[in-house]
Amino acid sequence: MKKAIYHAPASCGGEYLVEFTEDNIPCLVCMKCNHSVNDWEKWYKTYSTYHQNPSAWESKKDVMVCLLGHFCEEYQKHYSMPYPLSLTEKGLFSGPEMVILRKILKSFDNDAIKTRDYITWIFQTKVEVRKKKITSLSFMMVADFIQQFNFAQKKARTITRDTQLPERMIAWINTNAPSLNDLFTLRDFNDLEMFLKAFKFGQVPPSTQIQDFVDKLKLAKYIDPNLEIVKER
Ligand SMILES: [Zn+2]
Repeated sequence: MKKAIYHAPASCGGEYLVEFTEDNIPCLVCMKCNHSVNDWEKWYKTYSTYHQNPSAWESKKDVMVCLLGHFCEEYQKHYSMPYPLSLTEKGLFSGPEMVILRKILKSFDNDAIKTRDYITWIFQTKVEVRKKKITSLSFMMVADFIQQFNFAQKKARTITRDTQLPERMIAWINTNAPSLNDLFTLRDFNDLEMFLKAFKFGQVPPSTQIQDFVDKLKLAKYIDPNLEIVKER
């Protein structure tokens, strides 16, 4: 049995009837005053794809629909079924999903991209690896998970000597400065440090390719102006 949904007593107090559109999208219609809530139709027809547009993430008014869209997409990807959005008199945009997402966003200092990465991380680590079943969005509010995520992020940003060089950097060298490979074997940051020392002391034969590589490292903030590796990125 479904619990009855009522139009707010201050407005009219009538009971909402759940109707479905041709596409099987629910809509609430008050039986007493005919007031309707059609957030779900707006969602599926317009807002559910906003997250695919990178500039929407930078727009403050679109951040919430971007987060919900990203969550729903991850859910669909991992469970091969749509996330069951709740149906309440508050509608979708002020409903329970948005309340929880807003709390999570707040716990990441309103950083939308970090919150998006956290949602991705939850699905990767908890759903894919640990086989947890997400039955509600509130699963993501677990303080311990947020802490684990923050810790993993910090660790990923810290460079140690045996940290492998990013694949993108290796690919860049292979394409733009292949002559570097004849002189050095660059695999981890220790190798890079050795190269930079040699470069600094003029032990590397001058070449535009190598100079380009050093400039690129500075530009990407892998190294500071003194050619020292930046440990915390
Ligand atoms: Zn009503």
